[in-house]
Amino acid sequence: MEFFNIVNSEKRQSGNLMTSLNPRTKEKLWNAPVAGEADLNEAVQAARQAFKTWKLVEVEERQKSLARLADELDARRGQIHEILARETGKSDLLTNIEIDDTLKFIRFNASRSVPDEIEYEDGTVKIVSTHPPLGVVGAICPWNFPLVLAMAKVSAALVMGNCIILKPSPFTPYATLKVAELAIPLFPPGVFQVLNGDNEVGRLMTLHPGIDKITFTGSTATGKKVAANAIKTLKRMTLELGGNDASIICPDVDVQAVAQKVAAGCLFHSGQMCVATKRVYVHKDIFGEFREALVKAVNATEIDVSGKEPSLFSPIQNDMQYRIVKDLLADSKSNGHTFACEEGSQQQPGFFIRPSVIDRPPDDSKIVTMEQFGPIIPLMEWSSESDVIQRVNDTDSGLGSCVWARDTATAERLARKLEVGSVWINSFEIPSPYGYFSGWKQSGVGGEWGRQGLLSYCHTQTLQISK
Ligand code: NAD
Repeated sequence: MEFFNIVNSEKRQSGNLMTSLNPRTKEKLWNAPVAGEADLNEAVQAARQAFKTWKLVEVEERQKSLARLADELDARRGQIHEILARETGKSDLLTNIEIDDTLKFIRFNASRSVPDEIEYEDGTVKIVSTHPPLGVVGAICPWNFPLVLAMAKVSAALVMGNCIILKPSPFTPYATLKVAELAIPLFPPGVFQVLNGDNEVGRLMTLHPGIDKITFTGSTATGKKVAANAIKTLKRMTLELGGNDASIICPDVDVQAVAQKVAAGCLFHSGQMCVATKRVYVHKDIFGEFREALVKAVNATEIDVSGKEPSLFSPIQNDMQYRIVKDLLADSKSNGHTFACEEGSQQQPGFFIRPSVIDRPPDDSKIVTMEQFGPIIPLMEWSSESDVIQRVNDTDSGLGSCVWARDTATAERLARKLEVGSVWINSFEIPSPYGYFSGWKQSGVGGEWGRQGLLSYCHTQTLQISK
């Protein structure tokens, strides 16, 4: 299979090629071109030219183009599925979930607009807010949910009248490049371009004076570099960064049912989800029973090399992340933490790591304070609401959390005290296109999705009309 950068509606190759691995088997995947600075400059020039007319296209036309893109993706689903499953290591079930979500996000944005609002009116003056697009958006994406996270950015930026240049992660560029190829006939040249590249291309995007906004999803460490560079040209910025999400389990829950769901939330794509539960706080009255039920659910996780079984469990996506997870396990072992169930010594294929549960590690241990992004579940005990709120909030990150309680008023009271952008009540973390998604503290700047997310892809211009 051949892959191309897409610049000004042309399929481009490059003298510089890269290949990534299938994490399930470690087999080499396809060659893909690596874009250089000249490609970026050309793409920016094409986008600036395209913006002059794309911003004037009626929103209904822009919506139609996006709806066609969703239909085209759906029609080519078999091919996109194969590529996405192989590059991410996801099972067929998880790959289907990501493609369904991608379609949902594109179709959500294909049905949206931000109309003008009258802010004030009297006999002498009318004050109206309008929402013109920003210009050229640079989108930089991670490897964990490469297609849905990219296409959520693309569809929101385009429906608002911006042009976009997208850079996928070098670990997972393939499905994004293929979808951009499908989009060539649907958008004017320069409106939607994709440059596969390494971190350097990302850095050059953040510095480029012809890019008006950077929307970045990735780690907090990289987010800080992105911000430092983007601020040099005062670009608009949305940063969706890492988290250390907690699940709080109240004493009145149905222990067996909730333990199963919490395990699913922790182990969805093996914890490689920005809002996967990374710390579990269980009330002391049910701690023992819950631990037993959670361990049972975790031990039932099967490693299926074929990817055909209906499993939410995955290999770790890449060698770098594999080493981070292994180091965290080694740290817990060397510090004498109690493993309620262990990874074991059995040889695993690909980058698979069997899930483990760590029973009450200290609050200041690495496995509690760091984003593990892997299948290790630290289980803590709590006794009072003020204690658990204080411990959950005692972190630099603030992306998401879950609260589990039969009494939803209790759950909502706790949720409102959490310093995070999203709280799921009686569900594990399932982001929706309708909900604004944002990280507090060092989990991000600004946010995306939902009605408010669209505002991150436009200015608000005030028209003050004297009568
Ligand atoms: P990463 O920060 O390593 O890379 C993200 C992207 O940034 C890649 O495309 C990479 O090539 C690019 N990049 C690297 N250095 C750059 C630089 N100096 N300038 C510009 N671009 C640069 O993140 P990752 O490992 O791909 O993704 C995992 C992380 O992403 C986790 O921390 C996870 O929590 C976070 N994440 C957050 C969200 C969210 O919405 N908040 C969603 C998914 C993942």
